[in-house]
Amino acid sequence: MQLNDRQERIVEIVKAHGPITGEKVAEQLNLTRASLRPDLAFLTQIGLLDARPRVGYYYKGEQNPFGLMEHMADMTVGAHQSAPVTVTENTSVYDAIVSMFVNDVGTLFVVNDNQELEGISSRKDMLKIAIGKADINQLPIGVIMTRMPNIVVAYEDESLWDVAERMIAHQIDGMPVVRRMESGKLKVVGRVTKTNIAKAFVALGKQQ
Ligand code: ADP
Repeated sequence: MQLNDRQERIVEIVKAHGPITGEKVAEQLNLTRASLRPDLAFLTQIGLLDARPRVGYYYKGEQNPFGLMEHMADMTVGAHQSAPVTVTENTSVYDAIVSMFVNDVGTLFVVNDNQELEGISSRKDMLKIAIGKADINQLPIGVIMTRMPNIVVAYEDESLWDVAERMIAHQIDGMPVVRRMESGKLKVVGRVTKTNIAKAFVALGKQQ
């Protein structure tokens, strides 16, 4: 949504001086109150400004312009995650690649026998090794994976928004969703990827 210049100036004035009457806003812009009416009505309608009788206009935009922020804060990783696809450290790179295709995922999580996180391997990690001279039937995934503690993880009760921000910051496509065990180890319980975030984004639009 694009505001025109006058609407932007009105918002600036109300932000700085609100609550402020329509007359006072008009005065600052050297316009009549009547000529401002459509703009004030528009800004109120879209939720950027609100008005109280005898008090005037005040800025409301940052709180909640379209109810979107509330919905976004409600979107947790737990409600939007997928099932994890895991292999163990001694799985061959060849079998790991097959697992990626069979399970239609781009990232595999490497776990121990208790489903605790040990590493992660992306499709490009596999490509890199597959185009080299290594015998991928013999080479275990443990040799090429990104290893703990250098793994960026997500927790079920976190907001999807925070996770999306972390994905961008670390330039990764997905993360394991984990629960911290008493031992301090991280048990893998899910997978959250850019696809989950794209789906949630579409669902958010449909709610509006
Ligand atoms: P790709 O390399 O296939 O495009 P990513 O962008 O997700 O996939 O991965 C980039 C690199 O970061 C890879 O080397 C991968 O092992 C590593 N990586 C992927 N996900 C994570 C994560 N959650 N935490 C730490 N490293 C990761």
